[in-house]
Amino acid sequence: MIIFDSRGRKYYHAPLMSGPDAVQRLEDPFAFARAGGSRSGRIAIAAMPRLQDRIAGSEGVVSFQLRGGLDQRQRPLLELEVAGAAQMRCDRCLAQMDFPLKLASRVLLAEPGAAQPEDADDPEAPEWIEAGQELDVLELVEDEILLGLPYSVRHGDGKCGDWRSEGGRGAKVSPFSTLASLLDPEQTNKG
Ligand SMILES: [Zn+2]
Repeated sequence: MIIFDSRGRKYYHAPLMSGPDAVQRLEDPFAFARAGGSRSGRIAIAAMPRLQDRIAGSEGVVSFQLRGGLDQRQRPLLELEVAGAAQMRCDRCLAQMDFPLKLASRVLLAEPGAAQPEDADDPEAPEWIEAGQELDVLELVEDEILLGLPYSVRHGDGKCGDWRSEGGRGAKVSPFSTLASLLDPEQTNKG
């Protein structure tokens, strides 16, 4: 006899990737390029794992626009624009700050195992990537942000410390200043 007991059974569903966080794939990047395709969307910063140790917080969403085309030599390429903001930590005061992202790049597509494009050594030549049957747009966007993020950011001159004046004792303290105070020994509350 088999007893089906569904009580206490827990179902774990991986969150469905849809809407703004949908993983974007190009089924055939070469055909997309030759056809002059266009695709745009939004990707949550939190959905890009390789970014996480370069940024100070994973909130936010970037938007991207991807366009296919051919260069003067009729080689397939992709043009990518990424816009949004990433949370970085100011090198000087350790407060969190939004670093605006406005990135644009152009990459040639090469078949896997294909010889490098002849002008690969030319610093003026566009970058190129090996693309297979399909291309993960999320990874492409992530790569672009990784390349575009500075290793260190600072508030403008004289702008550091603005966050401290916002939150006196009992005043409304922004979560950023709270976080920064945890990391700043001078501000640590020894209570
Ligand atoms: Zn600062």
